[in-house]
Amino acid sequence: MQTKVVKFGGSSLADAKHFKQVADIIHADPARRYVVPSAPGKRHKTDTKVTDMLYRCYEMIRNHEDIDEYYKQIEERYYSIIRELGMDFDFSKELAFVKSAMLHASGRDYAASRGEYLNGIVLAKYLGFEFIDAERAIFFRENGTFDEEKTNSVLGKLLARHKNAVIPGFYGSMPNGTIKTFSRGGSDITGAIVARAVGADLYENWTDVSGFMMGDPRILDNPPPIETITYQELRELSYMGATVLHEDSIFPVRYAGIPINIRNTNAPEDDGTMIVSSTEHYDTKRIITGLAGKKGFSVIHIEKDMMNAEVGFGRRVLEILEDNEVSFEHLPSGIDTMSIVVATSALEGRRERLLNSISRQARVDHVEILDGLCLIAVVGRGMVKAKGTAARVFNAVNRAGVNIRMIDQGSSELNIIIGVDEDDYEKTLSAIYEEFVK
Ligand code: ASP
Repeated sequence: MQTKVVKFGGSSLADAKHFKQVADIIHADPARRYVVPSAPGKRHKTDTKVTDMLYRCYEMIRNHEDIDEYYKQIEERYYSIIRELGMDFDFSKELAFVKSAMLHASGRDYAASRGEYLNGIVLAKYLGFEFIDAERAIFFRENGTFDEEKTNSVLGKLLARHKNAVIPGFYGSMPNGTIKTFSRGGSDITGAIVARAVGADLYENWTDVSGFMMGDPRILDNPPPIETITYQELRELSYMGATVLHEDSIFPVRYAGIPINIRNTNAPEDDGTMIVSSTEHYDTKRIITGLAGKKGFSVIHIEKDMMNAEVGFGRRVLEILEDNEVSFEHLPSGIDTMSIVVATSALEGRRERLLNSISRQARVDHVEILDGLCLIAVVGRGMVKAKGTAARVFNAVNRAGVNIRMIDQGSSELNIIIGVDEDDYEKTLSAIYEEFVK
């Protein structure tokens, strides 16, 4: 029998109605054996996530404020779920214990993690599955980094003894037994870790959208969903700001070659997006898989006669960046010019020093910083096979009357990145979209 690990995000577990949908999804397929829940999320736009409420409690305690009334609201989130599901069990002791531990300096991460912990207990009871505390099986090293090998071995052995289980997302334990969380949105990571540990056939990540859209729906007119995308393509798109999945959640499953399926709890009939390591079984009819862009870049533009003949020139310039702790994003260069694309924010407080060092130490003819650049990535594994893709991109941009300030095409031919003025961002994105998708 197949094994699937299913992770449900906060909006999928925000209230009793969603718990029911989640249970229906799980029970519809016996392969959905291991479940990773987030904490209850927002029920409506102005609502507060339980995780945020817990962080707030922590702050209140630090400020010696009384948390009694506020904590009652957290308790009520769980009580209302239990009540509306028609379940009959006493959750008050568990909730009281968490409150007391928070009042006794158990730490910020402990407080934040309880959203998942408590939700996991309720969900396990509702499903009739075993509850396995992530504290017992997800480990961090002394220095705070995730200990993948120890986790994989302990979690793998533990779960092998259970046909079904609920493992709360977002946290694990430190060598001294204290609780540590991943970064925000980290239940995605737990799901991937569990999928790897049980050698799952599929990691289903259930959220409130039917997968990735080909581009930002706030800018593009009704972009279609992406059916399949490779890990590599996804990296390119998420780096450019397309987010649905926590970036770090890709590594554990990618390592094990397990596909991820992004699904919509509110529309389980939709296939969602399949994220795969190779596209052997998932060919694409489209030339481009997706489009993404990001504002807030600057170019350090350098000119020097005979630059191409000067051995070590690039190294000298990059060393100056390194000394100033500025990392670069792209490095398109010409015969006598070099353009270093960096995030504008990385230059804060360093502009003068950088310009001075580059002109003195690298003895350049001219150096300046140009701001207001945005980058747009046209990503697609289909580009390798299709001739003339770059020409189509540039023609489309040209037709929109936009001036291209930078071009970078990786040799993998997986993406073409162009830089345009920030003011031209939306126009450029739409023009490329019209060319390839409409
Ligand atoms: N509940 C945590 C957060 O809000 C983790 C997650 O939902 O993935 O960040």
